[in-house]
Amino acid sequence: MTSSLINYNRAEVTKGYTDQLLAIDLNNKTISVKVISEEMRRMFVGGRGYCLKLVFDGTKATTKHDSPENVLAISGGPFCGETGFAGAGKFIVGTISPLTNTFCDSNVGGHFFPLVKLSGFDAISVTGKTDQDVLVVIDGDRCEISIADAPETGDSLFGAENIIEKWKGDGEPSSVAFISAGTGAKNTSMGCINSVYYDLRRKRCRAKQAGRGGTGSVMRDKGLWGIVVKCNAKKANSNRPAHPDRVREAGKKLRKVIKDVDPNAMRLGTQGTTCLVDMMNSFHLLPVNNFQYGIDDRVKQVSGLLFEEKIFEQRHPDGCFLGCTLACTKGCEDYILKTGPFAGKTIRLDGPEYETAAAMTNLGIFDIDHILEYAWYCDEYGLDTISAGVLMSFLFEAYEHDLLTVEDTGGLELKWNCGKTVLELLHRMAAGECDFAVQAGRGVRHMKCWIADRASSRTGRTRSDLLGELSLFGMECKGLEFSMYITKESLAQQGGYGFALKGPQHDEAWLIAIDQLKNELPTFKRKAVALQWFPLFRTWFNLVGLCKLPWIDVRHPEAQNTEHPARNLPTVEYYLELVNATFGTQKTLDDLLMESERSYLLHKLINLRQGFGTREHDAIPLRAMAPVFMNEYRSRKKHYEEYLKNQAEVDINGKTDEELLSILQEYRRVQYDRLADEVYDEKGYDRNAVPLDETLNRLGFDKAEYFDIVRSARNQAQKQQR
Ligand code: SF4
Repeated sequence: MTSSLINYNRAEVTKGYTDQLLAIDLNNKTISVKVISEEMRRMFVGGRGYCLKLVFDGTKATTKHDSPENVLAISGGPFCGETGFAGAGKFIVGTISPLTNTFCDSNVGGHFFPLVKLSGFDAISVTGKTDQDVLVVIDGDRCEISIADAPETGDSLFGAENIIEKWKGDGEPSSVAFISAGTGAKNTSMGCINSVYYDLRRKRCRAKQAGRGGTGSVMRDKGLWGIVVKCNAKKANSNRPAHPDRVREAGKKLRKVIKDVDPNAMRLGTQGTTCLVDMMNSFHLLPVNNFQYGIDDRVKQVSGLLFEEKIFEQRHPDGCFLGCTLACTKGCEDYILKTGPFAGKTIRLDGPEYETAAAMTNLGIFDIDHILEYAWYCDEYGLDTISAGVLMSFLFEAYEHDLLTVEDTGGLELKWNCGKTVLELLHRMAAGECDFAVQAGRGVRHMKCWIADRASSRTGRTRSDLLGELSLFGMECKGLEFSMYITKESLAQQGGYGFALKGPQHDEAWLIAIDQLKNELPTFKRKAVALQWFPLFRTWFNLVGLCKLPWIDVRHPEAQNTEHPARNLPTVEYYLELVNATFGTQKTLDDLLMESERSYLLHKLINLRQGFGTREHDAIPLRAMAPVFMNEYRSRKKHYEEYLKNQAEVDINGKTDEELLSILQEYRRVQYDRLADEVYDEKGYDRNAVPLDETLNRLGFDKAEYFDIVRSARNQAQKQQR
């Protein structure tokens, strides 16, 4: 079936699947409905796996983020929309990223994909480009899909209720949801996608974000303003598992753990993820001034408790989809904006999340008003709060080191703890207003080169010398900006970021707590095993359409009595029951891990094919491993002296601080390198981070095209070594 307006037969969800793909080609504005093969389902499960497969098949080695053939892939997974289990509204957006030039994906919650699935689709692929912004409309009630003009307004969130109102017809507002990206997504490379749904209790739209990797920028580059879905079919019990009673029973057990544990532990249900602000600060992990410091006395001005008591409206439970009793999607009502194009307007805000608050502390700002303003504008503009925040903190530090001047920045003095300047730069970036802001919108990696070029002609230093200095504290890996945790004191977390295939994002491996705080990974081997196990199990959540938080942030009381408490295996049992009760199977945890490993391997193959998969692309900046400058070292001098004596077995007597800092830096570099060897062994790669043939065979990758990719990457790596 192919046309720019089509009617289709709605496939009913059966055991979590509809097995249909909605393919939209914007080159000629055609819409097709395709069958998803049994092989694709067996090998790649759904969600991130489907996005990877669609991008792998639809692109080639020369595909860039703005190539017409680039695929914007969107997929839920077999549990997306399962109302009997907590955390089941998640879906994935994946594409060739403008920041990393290879596959990057981001997960997001809300009602959008559960409604898409109810309308009959397990995945959506968007290819091609159009000059005129368009809106795709999926009407699951009438079984009709069309391509319409984009709404007049360029806004993404402001006035979202009007979009719901327009498309709901006679139905409920909760039967409509949409994804969109604002003008900031169009004007930068770090655009996020908003997933907007109507909250019947708060009687307003809520929004969650697929933040990382510039998926929103790809969407807007294609000329796609957004996708609206409307479906009045009943959401409850719509996933049609093989054994509904067993699913409900497993869901009940998970909800009991959430109810018993969370209020006395992290308090996600009342503080959202802002609970992490205080926790990270107390362990020197909260980024301050571009990851220089991990602790600051002003933290009480932005603590989770303050958000709980003064900012978040607590009257309603805040699950981002039905059935999530962890309910961390907190929100703030009636906030009056003070800056930017919407100054003076009253807005309602979802979040902010920990990462957004930490983006501000990383600029030296400990002020709730500035956090709220930054959070709302980033969402409205369609900018990733993490990438935008890290980009700005990098620029502020470059300014501090006189590598940027006020002439470069279009008149802005980039000084720490100045919310006004941060917001002004944000508004300019989103509007694409002046050259500096336009360049900045392309991310840290791009700005390292831009600054080196300009500073070279001004200072007479060589470009490579300047680039070397900027790379010490330009917090990106593979082109993606670091997410908001200080990693200097956790080797395992350095690996968690450095070896992550999409770049340094904590959703792949977050090992700080078990490594640094609990010392549960004392050897290279144990760290390497954790760096294999956790990314795989975390990946599994992204394959199936589930949120990780009820597993990773709510520790089952009995987990403490198991060999690996951090794996939270008693809760994993509930997930296994969900799997087997839905599919009518008898899968084990090892089966789930192998499913993840296949998708993980496909991601690795895309990275290799695009030229970004070998060892040198796993390198992280020195700031991620150790203090770079003397001020950082001296801020924890005692700690580092103890470390050098006890861990590195260095005789520190008679050595200057400068000598000790240099020894520390070298020691940490060697440690990271050793860890890389162990991790590659564990993953079945060679020392250049290229998968071995036996790894491909073990995971069923038997086609010649896969072997060609690894052979060519191996040859390339060997040539470079010669
Ligand atoms: S834990 Fe939070 S993010 Fe996850 S599904 Fe529940 S409300 Fe959404």
